Amino acid sequence: MAKDKTITLTDEFIMHTYKRVPLVIIKGKGIYLWDSRGRKYIDFLGARGAANMGYSDPEVVRAITTQARELILVTNDFYTRPQAELARLLVKYSFAKKVFFCNSGAEANEAAIKLARLSSYRKHGPGRYVVVSAINSFHGRTYGALSATAQKKYQAGFEPMVPGFRYVPFNDTDSMRAALGDDVCAVILEPVQGEGGVYPATAEYMESVRDLTRRKDILFIVDEVQVGLGRTGRLFAYESYGIEPDIVTVAKSIAGGVPMGAVLATGPVAGVFDHGTHGTTFGGAPIAAAAGLAAMGAIIRRRLPANAKRLGDIALRRLSKLKETYGTIIKDVRGIGLIIGIEFHDAAFAAAVYDRCLEDGLLTNLTNGTIIRFLPPLIITVQELARGLDIFEGALAHRHFE
Ligand SMILES: *Cc1c(COP(=O)(O)O)cnc(C)c1O
Repeated sequence: MAKDKTITLTDEFIMHTYKRVPLVIIKGKGIYLWDSRGRKYIDFLGARGAANMGYSDPEVVRAITTQARELILVTNDFYTRPQAELARLLVKYSFAKKVFFCNSGAEANEAAIKLARLSSYRKHGPGRYVVVSAINSFHGRTYGALSATAQKKYQAGFEPMVPGFRYVPFNDTDSMRAALGDDVCAVILEPVQGEGGVYPATAEYMESVRDLTRRKDILFIVDEVQVGLGRTGRLFAYESYGIEPDIVTVAKSIAGGVPMGAVLATGPVAGVFDHGTHGTTFGGAPIAAAAGLAAMGAIIRRRLPANAKRLGDIALRRLSKLKETYGTIIKDVRGIGLIIGIEFHDAAFAAAVYDRCLEDGLLTNLTNGTIIRFLPPLIITVQELARGLDIFEGALAHRHFE
């Protein structure tokens, strides 16, 4: 069969930074995606956490189209209403007193790291700039965020990294304690290591990191770019852990699929970013902020965090049973809310299950070779979830008995 024109053009004219599934996606609605050949897929990849509201949600579409007719963009030389309203909403439902808007997860972490360093500099003077992050983390691809991303495969060839980052094993309180010297200004952690293969932090770990950092006046940055806005069962993931961070970063799902990121901070920390210290042309643009207002409003009003918790529990129960049945194949099942990882003993087997799911109309994600990850839109229903899991179970059985 002749190669699709879109694929040919992409291969010729776009840098090959992505390993793409050979599908041309032309439409999305709810939890479903359609390809150029008219095939419909259940999407358990959920745009890697950017599609909490699913695709082309009517409320988000209405907000975007209405705003586009009024004003798509004006720079932050001026005040705009959607941005102000979205900030108020984020503050109302979080620990934060103020926010900074940007355009992506990497940018949000970049801003959070700068904010932490400046905060420490103003308060304690120079020399206290080290940011501690966890091995196997993912915080983005820009230099600051990449320097915090303690994984060789992302940093290789791009060295030297930004100075002043220190890496510790995840979920290990003693190592964290040992790393928090007098030169440390901040700790940055994902509540669930998503790209790293779905490793949730334990509650004890998050609590002790909060305790240790507070005692040393070190800022605790929680990177909720992937799991924020409802996925863990609470609006913000830190709530699932019963802690209060100093800084939280969000992005992926904040604006219903439109690019946006945000840094949320406590009053004293937020006050450090004053005129000229940081900025970005598109941050909080009317079109993105209007989409964000619609998306966040809907997530709250439709109680999607509670749906994530309930359906996540159902999925975990069913997958744990599958693990019992397929104990020689499945190594581990883990997750919180609607971020779930199924780890296989064997990479070839995981790849075969992934491929079979794709053939049978279920989009998933294969991460770190042996882990299949589910990040379905939070609007998913019990029936839709069951249908997706049926396909996954069928793929397992098919491969197993081949
Ligand atoms: C995706 C992700 C990022 C980077 O976000 P981009 O918008 O791709 O820059 C940062 N942190 C976490 C936890 C992520 O999952």
